[in-house]
Amino acid sequence: MRTLLDIDFLADEALRRRLAALSLALLAAGVALIALLVVAGVLPGACEAASLLGRGALPWAAALVALTLVSMPVHELVHGALFRLLGGPGTRVRYGHAASMLYAGCPGLVLSRARFCAVLLGPAALLSALLLALPCVLGYPLMGAIACVFHLSSCAGDVLAAALALREPSCTHVQDTEAGVRLLVAERG
Ligand SMILES: [Zn+2]
Repeated sequence: MRTLLDIDFLADEALRRRLAALSLALLAAGVALIALLVVAGVLPGACEAASLLGRGALPWAAALVALTLVSMPVHELVHGALFRLLGGPGTRVRYGHAASMLYAGCPGLVLSRARFCAVLLGPAALLSALLLALPCVLGYPLMGAIACVFHLSSCAGDVLAAALALREPSCTHVQDTEAGVRLLVAERG
């Protein structure tokens, strides 16, 4: 295996600026979409609007904060479950936090590019679906939409790493590292 690119989220300042910009762009796009849906009358739902205009606004905001906070460790647990599922038996996942981000990692583990991208993007997809669907079923679609946007903007690292791997035509495998991921190419012979 030959290294094509080392993606270091901890020490690479330019990459960290790119990450912050992507996070902000995801947040802005989500807020704009929600604003459009509110103007169009799709959000909030009838009972949600009533609780927001009355004394329910504070518990509503507290529930939104709780939902956002809970989604973070759940996101990492989904990464961990996917690492174990796709990494095969004996894969050991490490959880922790670095540079004010939670992480789930298997430093050294090498997966095919497709599998690694599934590990990277799985939590964003699953949590987005859950955050949109569950509050919506309970009658709080606006809360779900905002929690989903907050969550997606915190997935900028996953999205950026997957995009860099998928955009590199010769990348065949991806390795998890202490500080990010490493794009690899399998050499013949
Ligand atoms: Zn993630």
